Amino acid sequence: MTKMEGLEQDIRACRLCAERFAATATGHRPRPVTWFRASARILIAGQAPGARVHESGKPFTDPSGDRLRDWLGLSEAQFYDRDLVAIVPMAFCFPGYSAKKADLPPPAICRSTWHDRLMPELSRLQLRILVGGYAHGYHLGGKTSVQARVAQWRDHAPQDFPLPHPSWRNTAWLKRNPWFEAELLPVLRARVQEVIA
Ligand code: SF4
Repeated sequence: MTKMEGLEQDIRACRLCAERFAATATGHRPRPVTWFRASARILIAGQAPGARVHESGKPFTDPSGDRLRDWLGLSEAQFYDRDLVAIVPMAFCFPGYSAKKADLPPPAICRSTWHDRLMPELSRLQLRILVGGYAHGYHLGGKTSVQARVAQWRDHAPQDFPLPHPSWRNTAWLKRNPWFEAELLPVLRARVQEVIA
């Protein structure tokens, strides 16, 4: 077994958040969803699995995934090719819902337990897609807002692309910021194709 395979096995067996999740409205159990190999060239660093991914056990099997694949210009086969794409959210399990039915934040214990061990193993990355504020903060540092971070995308490209979350909750944001689709996405898609080639 490789170091990476051992790490994946350990993450899948992790139950550190069992009590925390049992106390949420959904009262669910931890189900870590992992999707990575050491050979990956593109990292998708998201927030945490939602309820649908908790059921499917496969990342981005939801409308957010459809939108993200469209943003990247990737087919489903390419998106789920682990030799090409590693999907490493800031928590590997669905955190549950808040009283307002929004997803709870990714538990910080996940990042402190796993991410500093996992990221150095992804040594072939050429492109990092950083989805949402938690991934921005971990991978880029600092406390800049999502709006400012995405607006300053040229400061990070072509290696990193900070993006908003592709959730339906951000549809209004996308309408208010037409430069995102008109300017950022064409550059991002070209960079993805460059890395694939
Ligand atoms: S969210 Fe992370 S730390 Fe918590 S149980 Fe899942 S894998 Fe473990």
